[in-house]
Amino acid sequence: MFGSLFHRLNRNVQIVGVGLLLASVGSEAFAQSARLTFLHSNDMGEIGAKPGYGGFPELATLIKRERERSPSAITTFGGDLISPSLMSGLSHGVEMISMMNAVKMDVAVLGNHEFDFGPAITRERIAQSNFPWLASNITLKPSEAPLGSKKLYVKKVGDFTVGFFGLLTQETIDLSSPGEGILFDDVIETAKKSIAELKAQGADIIVALTHLDYQNDLRLAREVKGITLILGGHDHRAIAGTEGRTVILQAGSDLRYLGVVDLEIARKEKRGKKYLSVVPSWKLLATAGVPADAEIKSAVAAFEKTLDKKLDIAVGKTDVALDTKRASVRTKQTIFGGFIAKAMRHEVNADVGFTNGGGIRGDREYKEGTVLTRKDILKELPFGNVTVSLKVTGAQLTELVEHSVSKVEDAAGRFGHYAGLSYRYDVTKAVGSRVQNIDVNGQPIDAVKVYVLATNDYVAKGGDGYAMLKAVPRIVDKSAGTLMATTVMNYLEAQGAITAAE
Ligand SMILES: [Zn+2]
Repeated sequence: MFGSLFHRLNRNVQIVGVGLLLASVGSEAFAQSARLTFLHSNDMGEIGAKPGYGGFPELATLIKRERERSPSAITTFGGDLISPSLMSGLSHGVEMISMMNAVKMDVAVLGNHEFDFGPAITRERIAQSNFPWLASNITLKPSEAPLGSKKLYVKKVGDFTVGFFGLLTQETIDLSSPGEGILFDDVIETAKKSIAELKAQGADIIVALTHLDYQNDLRLAREVKGITLILGGHDHRAIAGTEGRTVILQAGSDLRYLGVVDLEIARKEKRGKKYLSVVPSWKLLATAGVPADAEIKSAVAAFEKTLDKKLDIAVGKTDVALDTKRASVRTKQTIFGGFIAKAMRHEVNADVGFTNGGGIRGDREYKEGTVLTRKDILKELPFGNVTVSLKVTGAQLTELVEHSVSKVEDAAGRFGHYAGLSYRYDVTKAVGSRVQNIDVNGQPIDAVKVYVLATNDYVAKGGDGYAMLKAVPRIVDKSAGTLMATTVMNYLEAQGAITAAE
């Protein structure tokens, strides 16, 4: 009777779902009842409105309206706030916390992107927040200073107690930069333990804030008893429905929607047995076309003005036309990709510079003579990655080059841009034996020789499948590395211009 009902939403479409999770029949002694409302968002990007969807000013209006309708509404966030956006790349997410404080967030869960600038920044942002951050499945090594996050959060609404716990993906270790001192525990085990503790604290309703693959949200609903509501993030899905007796909602991404869940709850009694009746309903409200909240709008404008001043500074020009289109940087060595690799090689004094095409994001063309600003470089390299240097053997370097062309026909992000290394490849050959004639600085590659490789911290830790780099010795590691965008800006400033010369 209560099968899964999932509504996928297209942009600007609003679907309202109603479900009945625990029906009650027969004689009942009515005790107390209440409506619990949750206002959820997750995976934020730029703070202002974009074509086709709103930003914080529009979200704030929706939150206000829902609070008028349901005054004790709890406002929740599903993770990924302080990165990555153009602004947060420069500010490390200060404005994001300011926005969340302004809309009076009640409780949030940490996402993997909260660790993009390292745990010291995570700690700083948590300290600036006027609301608790949950991370129930984080354990710290004794050497690691406390983050300031909480395991559990309990809120009273009338006579009812709502217990929250928060889970973030164990993949954070590979997806972001939490460092060595933070451990991510199993989500199912953590959920069971958290629920028991919340119940011991008198929770009537259990809410999981999650920043997990959607499959893991489903697992939680199926394998862990007692969760009434899962408010998620990470997968950027606009989705709401039930799985068994659990409601799952995720509100898309980038401030496109406000997710709203109402739980009509009542203490009831049937044949002498007390129980809690829960009738949920839900909706996803599009931010598109919503009038902006004036106060938040002016705060956004102030942040954008500061950013523009910081970004509109010219760092050099290009003497040649540049192409950073997605289809180009993922399939062939481009002049700009080569320039990035050169800048990285120069930064750490390496033999070879290498970066993955998937990290180049401008997706545009520049005419010959174009003046390049900091904003241009940051739009090309928005991820906040840093330049590192590693020691690799010729054999490992050959494996790396093979890997970089292993999915070139799919335009995969792993495609490599190099400085100081040339090669030929044949896409018709089997993966793993496509590459020939690798030269390093004009000499045939030597399988046993050790080369210094400049690259970014993302591929260095095995991102985009570069597993061969994971365990090689580090010379300049992530903690010591310069922001890649800064590497490129500094090099361009020193050179004055991008030229066609290798
Ligand atoms: Zn995420």
